[in-house]
Amino acid sequence: MENAKLKKRKSAPRRPKSLYSQEELREIFRRFCVQRPEPKGELEHINPFTLLVAVALSAQATDAGVNKATRALFKVADTPEKMLELGEERLRDYIKTIGLYRNKAKNVIALSRMLVENFGGEVPRTRDALVTLPGVGRKTANVVLSMAFGQATLAVDTHIFRIANRIRLAPGKTPDEVEEKLIRIIPDEYLYHAHHWLILHGRYVCKARRPECEHCIIADLCKSPEKTCDIPAPLVELPPQVIGATA
Ligand code: SF4
Repeated sequence: MENAKLKKRKSAPRRPKSLYSQEELREIFRRFCVQRPEPKGELEHINPFTLLVAVALSAQATDAGVNKATRALFKVADTPEKMLELGEERLRDYIKTIGLYRNKAKNVIALSRMLVENFGGEVPRTRDALVTLPGVGRKTANVVLSMAFGQATLAVDTHIFRIANRIRLAPGKTPDEVEEKLIRIIPDEYLYHAHHWLILHGRYVCKARRPECEHCIIADLCKSPEKTCDIPAPLVELPPQVIGATA
C-alpha cells in the first residue's frame, strides 16, 4: 500500500498543465523581479514575534491600519512575555482601531501564553507548530515562515487568490487549492519572492474593482478575459517601497 502511494507520488507531474507555458511563466516572474528585485511585505515588525502578532491582527484589516496601531504597541510589548505583562485589557486599547479587535486581543494573549509555556518564548519555525497557536491558520503560518525565517512558502491572501483566478494562472476554488497549484507552476528560482510580487501586483495594478491593465508589465502575456490592454507598461525598477505608507 505504502509502495503504491509512493509510486503514485513519484509519477505525479512536477508541473501541472497551466494555461501558461513554462517560458511565459518564467517571463512573467522575470519581469516582476526586474520591477521589484527585493519585494517586501508592508506589515511593520521588529522580530518574528511582532511579525506573528501583526499578521494575526491583519485579518480583514489593511496593513496601514495595523501598522498605525502596532507602532505604539511594539514599543511596549515586543516579546510574548511583555505581551502577557501588558494584559488583554490594555492590549485592546492599543488595537481598538482594528476590526475584530476584541477577538484578536484574546488570540494574541493566548498565543503569547502558549509561546511562553510550550516554545520557550520563541516563535516556532515549522508550519505544523505554528498552526497550533490560537488564531494562527495556514496563511498566517506561511507569511511568518517566509518573512521571518526565509522559507519559500506561498500564503494565498485575497490579492493572490483574485489574480490566480482572474488571469488563470492557478485557478482554484479555495486558497489551499490555489497555493498548491502556484507552488507547482512558479519556477523554483522565483518562488521565494512570488508571494510579495503577486500581492503588490494585486494591490497596485491588478486591483479588485478594475484592473489597471494600462499600467501592467505583463499585459501582453496575461490571459485574463477581463484585461483591457495588450501593450505591457515599460519594464523599469520601481523606487524602494515605503513600508506602511499605503493601504
Ligand atoms: S493585464 Fe490586466 S488583468 Fe492581466 S494581470 Fe495585468 S492588470 Fe491584471
